[in-house]
Amino acid sequence: MAQYDVLVVGSGLFGSIVAHEAAQRGKSVLVLEARDHIGGNCYTECIDGINVHTYGAHIFRTNDRAIWEYLEQFCEFNNFVNSPVANFKGELYNMPFNMNTFARMWNIVTPAQAKEVIESQRVPCDDPANLEEHILSLVGRDIYEKLVKGYTEKQWGKPCTELPPSVMRRIPLRFIFDNNYFNDRYQGIPMGGYTRIMEQMLARADVRTSTDYLDDKEAFDAMADLVVYTGTIDSFYGYRFGPLEYRSLRFEHERLDTDNYQGVAVVNYTDAETPYTRIIEHKHFEFGTQPTTVISREYPQDWQPGIEPFYPMEDEANKARYAQYFELAQAEGKVRFGGRLGEYRYYDMQDTIKSALEKCNEWL
Ligand code: FAD
Repeated sequence: MAQYDVLVVGSGLFGSIVAHEAAQRGKSVLVLEARDHIGGNCYTECIDGINVHTYGAHIFRTNDRAIWEYLEQFCEFNNFVNSPVANFKGELYNMPFNMNTFARMWNIVTPAQAKEVIESQRVPCDDPANLEEHILSLVGRDIYEKLVKGYTEKQWGKPCTELPPSVMRRIPLRFIFDNNYFNDRYQGIPMGGYTRIMEQMLARADVRTSTDYLDDKEAFDAMADLVVYTGTIDSFYGYRFGPLEYRSLRFEHERLDTDNYQGVAVVNYTDAETPYTRIIEHKHFEFGTQPTTVISREYPQDWQPGIEPFYPMEDEANKARYAQYFELAQAEGKVRFGGRLGEYRYYDMQDTIKSALEKCNEWL
């Protein structure tokens, strides 16, 4: 008989939910985590009383009340509303594109005036060959050049003329004065940070950090009846069909002796010259009043094996390669694959929770 009922590889949101649900069902659980801390990319680290989102800003949102309430078992949400600001060469604009943005950009007052300016700048195109043509046909020149072009080119490491229109199918334009970035019914930041959520989810499991499952796969497999693997699926199979590609990010965190650096949690730098895309000031996620602050500059970077895989490249070549790995995974005896790396999907936290709970019903 194996030592544990379930072995979970990875202590991110997906793995932590599986560990919690397994314990709820009376199962014994071992969790292995390659990093030296739990929490995956949702991990927050407390510095000077400020919960720093180490792997990038994480803002929870959903329209699904059941998912919101599921997470509320482990935390209390505050009433943070994401209202980022765009900085284009020192000019500040509200996001998402709404009447505040248009009033600042064109010195206009009414929605009708804003629509008139946009209509006069649009470059209609029925069948855009690239992202530039597509965006110009939707929002016209000023918004494209000041708020979309530089940011998007830095994000993808390519000129918009070489990116497909599918990168940004829609650009929501709001003709009301509303800076709330998201449309979801529920939105907030867990007070006290995300790591506490995962700590509670993992409370009844044995957890080993700084332990890479792939270093001793056979021995770890022998320890449990069921293995739930949330690492990259291609590494599980030794990259036999080649590596799946990602877009990655590099974060530069800095502690500053000022109580308020930028007055808002998120500022997007939309010009081409600034090398980073965003600065996050973490204390504003929880309305912090500490005398110091911590900021993080976010630099997009090409991914290569060995650096953090953040955003799956869901293009045709990678989808086809993933399908090959998925086929192998279907034939596994006791190993199941889940989460954004195991399924090679861009999952927001709400998608991760939904998927994990569905899979738990199937697997446990
Ligand atoms: P992960 O968090 O990646 O966890 C996987 C874990 O497995 C990691 O800890 C890893 O170290 C471990 N692991 C991998 N391989 C092994 C191995 N071989 N052995 C042991 N351990 C291993 N979602 C939102 O809803 N709102 C946001 O604002 C938001 N912002 C984001 C910003 C960024 C920059 C990123 C990258 C994601 C963002 N997300 C956001 C998405 C969110 O991070 C994911 O939904 C969630 O973290 C997925 O959880 P996971 O457990 O699938 O993966």
